[in-house]
Amino acid sequence: MIELHTADNIKKWNKLMDELDLRVGFVPTMGALHEGHISLVDYARKHCDVVVSSIFVNPTQFNDAGDFEKYPITMDADRAMLTAAGCDLLFYPGIDEIYPDGREYNLDVDLGYLAECMEATNRPGHFEGVMQVVKRLLEITEPDVLYLGAKDYQQFKVVSRMVETYEMPVSVVACPIIRETEGLAMSSRNRRLSEEERHAGLLLSQSLRDICDHWEEEKPSELIARNVKRLESNPLIRLEYLEIADADTMRPIRRWEDSTSARAFVAAFAGQIRLIDNMRIY
Ligand code: AMP
Repeated sequence: MIELHTADNIKKWNKLMDELDLRVGFVPTMGALHEGHISLVDYARKHCDVVVSSIFVNPTQFNDAGDFEKYPITMDADRAMLTAAGCDLLFYPGIDEIYPDGREYNLDVDLGYLAECMEATNRPGHFEGVMQVVKRLLEITEPDVLYLGAKDYQQFKVVSRMVETYEMPVSVVACPIIRETEGLAMSSRNRRLSEEERHAGLLLSQSLRDICDHWEEEKPSELIARNVKRLESNPLIRLEYLEIADADTMRPIRRWEDSTSARAFVAAFAGQIRLIDNMRIY
């Protein structure tokens, strides 16, 4: 695996890949890699000629400074995992390479309802930071396909909207969520969970699973009420939202007949660690 630190060096490789007419798949990450990230590399390798990944802990998408400071960094293990997964090129930039003109947000993307629900309302400024960094990374790496995880489903919708708005020549693909054996969605933040918090965190995927298993017999409001109660009964859990929403518009679903594709979404703190998860209902 080749590791590059500057946009200029990436550009030289882009030129070569362009001349050779190679299809480039790109997997942006914030490092502290796990099997969820590697599954995106696997998808990219299957469908593209060259796999480019990036590791950059983007300060502008953290609405909580403490979360940014404590974000795990495991570069040696990350390099080993990417190499083993067959990643061809790692972009590992410093902050000045990503924000040479400062960090001010100056994009103009109309997110509509995506900016008014779930992660957007609970993490003010988060999606602006995400759009800012993904746009910059796409401009540097110039991929044909961008691989994102459905774990951050709303992020996938936001990035897709940003790509459409700026007519960027890249397809955006969402890959399935990879889970621990007990059901907890893999996340870099999981390694900061204590044993008790990890146990409490299992309630998130269990609640989503309960919704997916019973939607044909029960109304959305009944499923939400039962699982809010289940989550809130654990003293380590601080629930932010549990929502059943249309997978396309992200608007809440009150009656199943109002939506042709539904997803359940949850966000909660397990102790100090914020976890999110979602599942396709139908
Ligand atoms: P992050 O490093 O958390 O910014 O994540 C980088 C990419 O990996 C994003 O597109 C995430 O949605 C994706 N990702 C994170 N966790 C998982 C998971 N458990 N399964 C699938 N994709 C994931």
